Amino acid sequence: KRDERGGYSFYAADQNERLAAHRRLLDEMRRGIRNGEFFVEFQPRFETSSRRIRGVEALVRWAHPERGRVSPAEFIPQAERSGLIIPLGEAVLRDACRTIAGFDAISVSVNVSPVQFRDPRLVEIIASALDEAGLPAHRLELEITEGILIEDAERARQTLGRLKEMGLRLAMDDFGTGYSSMSYLCDFPFDVIKIDRKFVSGLHDPGRGRAVVQAIIGLGQSLGIGVTAEGVETNDQLAMLMQLQCREVQGFLLARPMSPEALRLLESDAKAPPAEAPAPPRRPR
Ligand code: C2E
Ligand code: MG
Ligand code: MG
Ligand code: MG
Repeated sequence: KRDERGGYSFYAADQNERLAAHRRLLDEMRRGIRNGEFFVEFQPRFETSSRRIRGVEALVRWAHPERGRVSPAEFIPQAERSGLIIPLGEAVLRDACRTIAGFDAISVSVNVSPVQFRDPRLVEIIASALDEAGLPAHRLELEITEGILIEDAERARQTLGRLKEMGLRLAMDDFGTGYSSMSYLCDFPFDVIKIDRKFVSGLHDPGRGRAVVQAIIGLGQSLGIGVTAEGVETNDQLAMLMQLQCREVQGFLLARPMSPEALRLLESDAKAPPAEAPAPPRRPR
């Protein structure tokens, strides 16, 4: 293609470079999957009022042998475009179910990409992951973004219905960032709304910022479904979320994504007899 200033060759070179980079990344991902470079970390979600761990979100990680940690923001979109997200997502799901089955009461949330959702084997894979791990279905929550529902709403409704019948919980991830969050909330059987970090970071604005979060929390309460705030980074944000009676909080202030071993330590700490009042979070900022 030719742009107006006659930048034909530039544009083509740029395009070729991007394509080559895309192919390289895919080759490296395939190799990484074979070599066990991908693994899962777990970020706790806490009940706001008691500060108890209610569950964890499974987040995929890539330890690249030369580049070190590669961000999911970089490789998930490529994995989605290429279809690699299907085997990768299945591996994350199985790992997450197996790991969390080893803990007492906590539940695990797994992100499901729109591409996985279009895979007719999805329900079967989920059933088999639960079965293999011995994890009861109510302890698995799927985090879904509205992209899943856009293409074929009727099929999405059927699949979500089957998953609900199995006893899974459904969370609407990144709530408020898409085009039609409201209508999806009306049309599909979500159990939880996850307020996107973008809105949590707007809480310091006593005008609109706070009003929007308050409205989302109120919406959840009216619908009788849970609300989790993502990306809680400061004590001020936490205090405001408590005041607004947000049910659950997740964020670097409370805990970073961690290994199963670190989660085990955190959980056994939490089980120790409580010292009077719940302590304020230790990490400042
Ligand atoms: P998400 O599902 O909204 O996950 C939350 C992201 O926010 C995670 O980033 C987490 O590390 C980050 N986060 C949590 N608390 C804080 C905080 O206080 N401050 C800030 N700045 N960030 C916080 P991560 O792990 O880089 O993942 C990014 C996105 O990649 C996820 O967003 C999700 O959409 C996608 N993703 C990650 N793992 C998977 C997976 O296994 N499957 C699929 N399909 N997508 C995944
Ligand atoms: Mg998520
Ligand atoms: Mg997400
Ligand atoms: Mg999110």
